[in-house]
Amino acid sequence: MRYLSVITIFLVCAVQTIARTPKHPDDIPKKTYYIDDSCDNKKGFPNGWLWTTKNAKAMLARANSDTKADADYHSILERIFQFKFTDDKKEVEGVLNTILGPIEEITVMKDAKDDMKTADVRIFCDNDKIRNEDDPNDKARWVRDDDGVVIDHTNLMVADEDDLCSNPEIGGWNTDTRITWDGSNQGHNPNRAVISLCDRMFEVPEDVSPSRWPLEVTPEIRARDYTGTPIEFFHPLICRIILHELMHALRQKQNGEHDGTFIDDFPKPKDPEESPWKYVLEQKKSECRINADNYAYASLWAMVAGWKWSIVRLTPPDTCSTDGQKQDYIKWAETKIKEGRMKKYQDVTRRNSAPMKSDERRMEQTEASKRIMDFLLDIESKK
Ligand SMILES: [Zn+2]
Repeated sequence: MRYLSVITIFLVCAVQTIARTPKHPDDIPKKTYYIDDSCDNKKGFPNGWLWTTKNAKAMLARANSDTKADADYHSILERIFQFKFTDDKKEVEGVLNTILGPIEEITVMKDAKDDMKTADVRIFCDNDKIRNEDDPNDKARWVRDDDGVVIDHTNLMVADEDDLCSNPEIGGWNTDTRITWDGSNQGHNPNRAVISLCDRMFEVPEDVSPSRWPLEVTPEIRARDYTGTPIEFFHPLICRIILHELMHALRQKQNGEHDGTFIDDFPKPKDPEESPWKYVLEQKKSECRINADNYAYASLWAMVAGWKWSIVRLTPPDTCSTDGQKQDYIKWAETKIKEGRMKKYQDVTRRNSAPMKSDERRMEQTEASKRIMDFLLDIESKK
């Protein structure tokens, strides 16, 4: 006798909530980086580099993830880059391709090791020094020329004479001049970008307490209570500055021309008392996706999301029952968001604490979201 068990199969038309299919690593341009020996003895550089790549990976995974599963981070991206995940699908895909392009490139960049000539991005931690020619031991790469310019003999570049690290507002800078003085590249990658990191970004200013000026991401930094702290607390992080500079380096002017993809610096605070986050939010729509600090802050929010911190949620909690309470909450939350205040949410990957409907729960289990969650857990476990 045969017993037939009836298996009921529910075929569910899964609602597609993935805004963008992640690019296969093979389809991402593989750029190379060269880190100069001058960075070897800079305390904080290894931590800065590690967290630059960690934060880029976290930003990518969260931006690509299921809209329902990562609503907190998506709402932050919407504000920084001025779009809505609910906009036309093609349009959203286009915006995400633009903003995630250079971030993806960071995640697959390869070490050029000693092959500096071919490297796409070169990083120097030499405080951008100009050689003192009276000192025979001074091997600084920038040398003054009689024509009022300085020549970088290591990278074969010419710049207007300007010792940028002496400018107190600059932590690091990018040289996008790729013109050699004799017109030949002498075997150098013609698209090289050179990042100069200033000593200043590795030091806590004299008048500031080190506990208020984080340079490295340490276990102590990750464990702190950031309730109500604005995100710009993390502004001094070396990884924030490196990612900012990498944005310029990976989206350079083409042949000196601004082709619309070049990531530049648009208005930023002139006064140290002003909030850089406010400037990130207030960029013109036409410039928010080509402003380096918008990317740097998007990476910082991805970093803290891994520690369960997010921006204050705009959705009123269940404790607000009347319309008046809800409106008051939204008004309060808007102010906190503009100030970039952090709040800890146990379920930082989900915006609603209410139990999800069964179809939403199922969506959470899509292959892509599982893969992304595994990836994020993997990052967490390696911290
Ligand atoms: Zn910049």
